[in-house]
Amino acid sequence: MQLRIGNGYDIHRLVSGRPLILGGIRLEHPLGLDGHSDADVLVHALMDALLGALSLGDIGQHFPPDDPQWKGADSLVLLEHVMALVRERGWIVVNVDTVVIAERPKLKPHIAAMRRSIASRMGLDPDQVGVKATTNEQLGPEGREEGISCHAVALLQRP
Ligand code: MG
Repeated sequence: MQLRIGNGYDIHRLVSGRPLILGGIRLEHPLGLDGHSDADVLVHALMDALLGALSLGDIGQHFPPDDPQWKGADSLVLLEHVMALVRERGWIVVNVDTVVIAERPKLKPHIAAMRRSIASRMGLDPDQVGVKATTNEQLGPEGREEGISCHAVALLQRP
């Protein structure tokens, strides 16, 4: 049995006039994340962790930001593309874990829904999908509410 591990990181700016979508869930908040796609920073970090585990580059290579095909894209659909690459190569996901750094809004009430939405698109049990949230103690860009970032790890197995 072979094992591979990958890590991913992403940050997006908070701006007005955009919806806030995290883990495929739309949250009520006066600010949203800016980006070419739906800017779901959680799913972006997760995809980079999966790609990283198999040395398949990063999401910028697979879904170039200047490609109109991905404008406004649902990041969960991009995640399905990444999972197809993983499966094509004979790998299965053991588990993934993520931590979102956001001062506001409070994410705790939405964590279970995020885990379910990600797990269903990945073909996993929610038990295999960790989503955690922390503030940045008002420090740095996340703490000043200029943006939201996310770190992710993924463990893959090939029987
Ligand atoms: Mg991104």
